[in-house]
Amino acid sequence: MCGTLRASDAGKKAVLMGWVNKRRDHGSLLFIDLRDRTGVTQVVVNADRDAAIHEKAGTLRNEYVIAVTGTVRLRDASTINPNMPTGEVELVAEELRILNESKLPPFLPSDTALTNEETRLKYRYIDLRRDAMQFNIETRHKVAKAIRDYLSDQGFFEIETPFMTRSTPEGARDYLVPSRVQPGTFYALPQSPQMFKQILMISGFDKYFQIVRCFRDEDLRADRQPEFTQIDLEMSYPQPESVWGVVEGFLTAAFQAAGSAIKTPFPRMDYDEAIRLYGIDKPDLRLPAFTDVRECFTAENLQELAINANLPVIAIRTPKVGELSRKERDDIKPMFHSKGGAKIFEDFKRIGNKYPDAAAAIAKKTAMQDGDGDLIVLVAGSAQAGPQTAMPTHRKVTPAELAIYASAGLLRLALAQKYADRHGIFKKTGDPANDFRFLWVTNFPMFEWDEGEKQWMAAHHPFTSPHEQDMTLLETGVDSVTDPQSTVSAVRALAYDVVLNGTELGSGSIRIHRQDIQSKIFRALGMTEEEAKSRFGFFLEALEYGTPPHGGIALGLDRIVMILAGAESLREVIPFPKTARAVDLMCDAPTPVSDRQLRELGIAVKK
Ligand code: ASP
Repeated sequence: MCGTLRASDAGKKAVLMGWVNKRRDHGSLLFIDLRDRTGVTQVVVNADRDAAIHEKAGTLRNEYVIAVTGTVRLRDASTINPNMPTGEVELVAEELRILNESKLPPFLPSDTALTNEETRLKYRYIDLRRDAMQFNIETRHKVAKAIRDYLSDQGFFEIETPFMTRSTPEGARDYLVPSRVQPGTFYALPQSPQMFKQILMISGFDKYFQIVRCFRDEDLRADRQPEFTQIDLEMSYPQPESVWGVVEGFLTAAFQAAGSAIKTPFPRMDYDEAIRLYGIDKPDLRLPAFTDVRECFTAENLQELAINANLPVIAIRTPKVGELSRKERDDIKPMFHSKGGAKIFEDFKRIGNKYPDAAAAIAKKTAMQDGDGDLIVLVAGSAQAGPQTAMPTHRKVTPAELAIYASAGLLRLALAQKYADRHGIFKKTGDPANDFRFLWVTNFPMFEWDEGEKQWMAAHHPFTSPHEQDMTLLETGVDSVTDPQSTVSAVRALAYDVVLNGTELGSGSIRIHRQDIQSKIFRALGMTEEEAKSRFGFFLEALEYGTPPHGGIALGLDRIVMILAGAESLREVIPFPKTARAVDLMCDAPTPVSDRQLRELGIAVKK
């Protein structure tokens, strides 16, 4: 291969095949950088030695595919290239074959400046020849292999589940495949193998995994793909901790395969605590948590500042931001988006001038480092808005508190991003100095109120098990589907997310294994028995035949590889990705199909 010859190979005969990366003519000497997946070797063609080869070599263009037979030779000391693994040697050509020519590509794999992404995606085969893409795809292979090996060693079977199936309950829109044999009926591409993997537990395969493509037809946000790959697993008789142990194990193997070490076990945090401390369910632990500084103010202070004394006053500390200019301080306010009744105090100096005692107490409580220029911004409830009681629930965090926490949570991240260059905490993905701060977020609420539909929805998916201790809340609320005050609001799920540096890598749960409880959950979600039967009848029936307790999780492989390859987007680690408009620019999919195909399917397209 083109990346393998070393000084110790000098004198040996070799045959190299690959692409012409570059050609340099120096009169009677002609140099070819020959490239394949493993690297580049310099080939020398000497006219004085063989005029015919020299002439043929003169016709070579970039990206021609050639085969060269020759002898490996040590380079002169002055021409050694220490930046290339093969830089001490060259291959002296004795025979040259042109295996194939190439049109002039729209860009070259060796170009240092990247062309625009549309061109890269259209000519993906050229783009994939670039070193960076070869590295990304190799990393993907290594990571997937490490995960496979780890899980196999732990006794998991990799089992395939169908792609042509029926709607799964992950809550996104399905991609549909029309059936020709039964006109008017459709398969759905799986949003996840959820029901199949649960059925595999019923079938006695107590440890299942699959590195599997999933399909979700969502309005694509910047970095989403309609088809993406999940590391999907399920096990019988688990506690949540057993699932976490497996995930920590295969992530350790995956990170190791890519040259990074991580610490296990990951810390754990209740959903409620995550909201209270970070205002978000996927906290970035690289930044300090909130501090509630309400007590640092006197009742009169709060009144003068028109702060609602019944709600938390959140101090957000962003470390090492340094002195802010007037203009920079003015820029903070527009970064704040109040989720209702929350207001911002971005000028901590002014607070200090007016309320020195409070400011000193806040500095102490937040562990503010004045010399390092920590920035403190306060978010509090507005007294004008009054204590918000519009939608009380049975949750520990009331909606009014949630509004403050959530507004502060978003601001905390926005501030960290804005000053990323200064505080040095947010490193670019792939920076070896990166701190991998993993976290398990647990005990999510079972149900979420959908304001549009005016009813309760499953926060994870409807097969997630409620907490044993919250069963009575489920019982009392099971029929108050359209009541935002229902006790189901307080039911916690045995659901968990694994989070890395503020990104959700995956979620899972312990499942419901009893049909009676599953029916109750469907009822609480406003599904009639007939509806549940028509959507999941086969699954409900399967539950009645001796279903062991089971649970699992799914993690996004693309995102993990992206982090490990140090890539900036998912498209950089997927060989043939789609654009934000779900188009494959290389093969130009989706396309219209012929009238005949439509006729056969019994489908008419409305213009
Ligand atoms: N099927 C779920 C998902 O794709 C994961 C799980 O519950 O295992 O999000």
